[in-house]
Amino acid sequence: MSWRLSSAVEAILDKGGDFTGITREEAMILLTLDLDSREIYALMETAHRMSRQKFENKSENHFHIGINVAPCPYNCSFCSLTAKAGIFMHAIEFSEADILKWATDADSQGADALNIMTTGTFSFERLLAVGRLLKKTVSTPLVANTRDIIHKEGEMLIDAGFVGAYHAVRLGEGRDTPFDREKRIRTISVIKDVGLHWMNCVEPVGPEHRPEEITDLMFLARDYGATYSGVMRRINFPGSPMAGHGMITEREMARMVAVSRLVMGDVPRAHCTHEPHAASLLAGANLFFPEVGASPRDGEADTGKGRGKEINACRGIQMEMGWNPDLPSNCFDVKPPVTHYQ
Ligand code: SF4
Repeated sequence: MSWRLSSAVEAILDKGGDFTGITREEAMILLTLDLDSREIYALMETAHRMSRQKFENKSENHFHIGINVAPCPYNCSFCSLTAKAGIFMHAIEFSEADILKWATDADSQGADALNIMTTGTFSFERLLAVGRLLKKTVSTPLVANTRDIIHKEGEMLIDAGFVGAYHAVRLGEGRDTPFDREKRIRTISVIKDVGLHWMNCVEPVGPEHRPEEITDLMFLARDYGATYSGVMRRINFPGSPMAGHGMITEREMARMVAVSRLVMGDVPRAHCTHEPHAASLLAGANLFFPEVGASPRDGEADTGKGRGKEINACRGIQMEMGWNPDLPSNCFDVKPPVTHYQ
């Protein structure tokens, strides 16, 4: 092995490390770096330094509460909450008492946001009611994670107390889901236009996704000004139709997290990864999602009793890696990042 870094990679890292962003071609070169190479550690060091500097050592925990379980008729291939998966035969809506307990516990344990997730056909009115209830009870910022919305519904989210919305164009959108990519992008424009923070992740990554497809979604996040946009891998729940593809490792995810950090440049206020793990905290990530309630990755109705990690466990991993979860969040103290797409 050479002791010197490839000069081409070094030039990309110098440029990316200056927060000026990199090109699609450069991102694809980085995405295919050998995981045992010196270049991969130089890439991760660059991404890590950028996040330490920009986020001032703050690590974040945005607490996911999946407020309902359903045999969802949309049947996205990667999701355990589908009619087709046959895991959940009946709809369950968690009680207001459960939701309030989760939210107040998260608030007292230092959550930086509450991400309120619904399945694809859940009542929008009920989501608004949960928002109003939580707004009265906790001071933690509220982020909605629901179906495509129109402008008026974006304003209704704000009136109900939400300050952000998580919405991703998924890998394989239109192929592994029944949804139209352009419609999902229109929802992102709605989120931005009404003044909500747009939260995103390149997801759910599996070994079958090509660098072109992954790169495309990283650039969508930068161009539309995501508040954060890291990388989440696909988890194959028991019986998943995607099981034949396998899953990527945390190490492979850390490489993507680092590339995505260079792509995002000076746009984001944090950089996420899921599920929580240490490797990506050395590669530019500083944001985890502790979880309770429904999860598209779990066969348990309440992922808090399954795969979901508690806030304290997430904080522990972050502190072991030298991040400070006790500082104030960087995500909500300014207006949503400027959109570059117009
Ligand atoms: S990802 Fe959402 S819309 Fe798709 S099947 Fe799961 S719950 Fe339904």
